[in-house]
Amino acid sequence: MKIGVYPGSFDPVTNGHLDIIERASKLFDKLIVGVGVNNNKKSLFSVEKRLEFIEVSCKSIPNVEVDSFSGLLIEFMREKNANTIVKGLRAISDFEYEFQMALMNRKLNPEIETIFMMTSSKYSYLSSSLIKEVAGFGGCVRGLIPEVVEKELHKKL
Ligand code: ADP
Repeated sequence: MKIGVYPGSFDPVTNGHLDIIERASKLFDKLIVGVGVNNNKKSLFSVEKRLEFIEVSCKSIPNVEVDSFSGLLIEFMREKNANTIVKGLRAISDFEYEFQMALMNRKLNPEIETIFMMTSSKYSYLSSSLIKEVAGFGGCVRGLIPEVVEKELHKKL
């Protein structure tokens, strides 16, 4: 069984993330969206909420599973029996960091491969942090995030 993991903080999930999830789900028997828990990083939404947003938004894709992890991604992959990491690339600026992470993960476990998927151009400028910033100042982010996220975001900010 081919199992891929798409890791990230997803604080909150955006339509850019969902586009990658939809496309990546076609490449694997199972795609696990891994919500990383980093206690040193302040997040707007709790892990439970972040998981719920992804679950609700992906309910029509049967081979997508959502789970959280803390610590090393490589360890999470081992627990899940997964061997491919999926990452999305938006711009050259993503490349350097992702390249570094991919090489480090390969050093930690040479059996695990990282694949990169290009963003759809309509979402190439989207990031969770930009969504939070714009919504925080009252800007309209409709169409850039799932409806369930939009509702909660307005309540929160
Ligand atoms: P961010 O907070 O920057 O949105 P995440 O850590 O939640 O980032 O992102 C998880 C993964 O999704 C990363 O591989 C990131 O490059 C990718 N990603 C984020 N936004 C997009 C987008 N708009 N299009 C494609 N990939 C994306």
